[in-house]
Amino acid sequence: AAAASAPPDPRPLQMLQQVFGYAAFRGAQQEIVDHVTAGGDALVLMPTGGGKSLCYQVPAIVRHRAGQGVAIVVSPLIALMHDQVGALHEAGVAAAYLNSSLEGDEARRIERELMSGQLVLLYAAPERILTPRFLAMLQSLHERGLLSLFAIDEAHCVSQWGHDFREEYLGLSALHEQFPGVPRVALTATADSHTRADIVERLQLQEARLFVASFDRPNIRYTIVEKDEPKKQLLRFIRDEHEGDAGVVYCQSRRRVEETAGWLQTEGINALPYHAGLDAEVRRRHQDRFLREDGIVVVATIAFGMGIDKPDVRFVAHLDLPKNIEAYYQETGRAGRDGLPANAWMAYGLADVVNQRRMIDESEAGEDFKRLQRSKLDALLALCEAIDCRRVRLLGYFGQPSTPCGNCDNCLETPETWDATEAARKALSGIYRFRQAGGQRYGAGHLIDVLRGKTTEKVTQHGHQGLSTFGVGADVSEAQWRLVLRQLIALGHVEAEGEYNTLALAESAREVLRGEVPVRLRVPTETKARGKGPRGD
Ligand code: ADP
Ligand code: ZN
Repeated sequence: AAAASAPPDPRPLQMLQQVFGYAAFRGAQQEIVDHVTAGGDALVLMPTGGGKSLCYQVPAIVRHRAGQGVAIVVSPLIALMHDQVGALHEAGVAAAYLNSSLEGDEARRIERELMSGQLVLLYAAPERILTPRFLAMLQSLHERGLLSLFAIDEAHCVSQWGHDFREEYLGLSALHEQFPGVPRVALTATADSHTRADIVERLQLQEARLFVASFDRPNIRYTIVEKDEPKKQLLRFIRDEHEGDAGVVYCQSRRRVEETAGWLQTEGINALPYHAGLDAEVRRRHQDRFLREDGIVVVATIAFGMGIDKPDVRFVAHLDLPKNIEAYYQETGRAGRDGLPANAWMAYGLADVVNQRRMIDESEAGEDFKRLQRSKLDALLALCEAIDCRRVRLLGYFGQPSTPCGNCDNCLETPETWDATEAARKALSGIYRFRQAGGQRYGAGHLIDVLRGKTTEKVTQHGHQGLSTFGVGADVSEAQWRLVLRQLIALGHVEAEGEYNTLALAESAREVLRGEVPVRLRVPTETKARGKGPRGD
């Protein structure tokens, strides 16, 4: 009640203008900054590029000037710390970071600055903060009233449900226990409802005020196409819609990055590769050119983008499936930060699904974690296969209800669908018959040949033309069969295993086999583009 009648604090806006040179706060920033400056706890959910940093930097500056000491910023990424501190120095703010990249002497110098109370912001990794030595320093500052604020960046790291859980984050609740009364602000760009609940509980933020900025990026148009000839599809997309524009193309492997960049270059696109296997010098040069020149397309692994701040990226393309929806959102979010129209374009296919599943299966992680990763992959696949508004799906995943956007591929052109219930049953019977006919397993390609009744060498060799399932699916195109199989894999009715991705039935396949589960699928985009009908080719 007191806050409502108090005159607004003019200092945050002054600092924003004087120190950062910005005219006004954006969206929820003002409210967050006021709340934190006044000493309140906050949990901030704001999409990437939304301007989270200022939400703690401005309060830190105001509080420091008021004699309240230093703000400690917990950050998991050395590169980000480095960028942030660099930007703060340019703005004339006394900031520093402590992490494993520093020499002993350098670290001790920064510790002295910290203890003298000069620093406005100190960035550090959680494992560093939680050492007895560092906690003792904080204790001493606290006793002198010089600990102004804790900012916990990338707060989703505290949750196993979040996409990059970090064990060290779990210890951060100690800050609240040891330094009660020091305001805390936790920030994240990626928090579905599970993650959010975890953050509140594990960081003991029950009393914190929750600020949820909209995740909608209305200027981004989402398009997801079926992979056919991915490089050519990409080239067509760039030529048709983004001639001369700056963009990022994400691929999963270094090899694919090199291949794709090389190929785009031969096609006259100004493309540069970027991945962790390149020389630091080459990476820096490519990043610089992307930032400074017009119309550069960077082909990259996910190593590219952290801390990249270029407002006029007109498109982000994915040639491989991202890890999950959070990653997709974050990566596509690098497009159109200037608010002008931008495209998020992705091509995905059966092999992507199989690869991602295999990466999860073969990882060293525990069973719980794998199950979680699989369910996240499923959510992403559901987005890819969706026949309704992509944006509604995407925002829904982040807990934000919305209505069809009119600016995604599915809204702009209602996808044609077909009843694939019967086809799904045939595919499952096909796999089942292989097993009966000798127990061997086969991959999707061979299964489709059998279903379509193609007498290939392999078919003859195994005598598969004699199976009852031979030729039962001749009326369904190969592209459609791939879609059916992908869907069956995505839904967990079929498992793709081993080096050759051979197919096996899962327990749940029974219901589909009995026709108890209706399956409705989109007509493959590429089939349509070539003027082929949904039935046959
Ligand atoms: P996030 O951490 O949420 O991804 P950042 O804090 O890095 O976002 O901010 C993204 C970009 O937006 C930065 O270039 C930042 O300087 C700019 N920005 C943030 N808030 C404002 C504002 N109020 N006015 C102008 N630019 C802003
Ligand atoms: Zn839509």
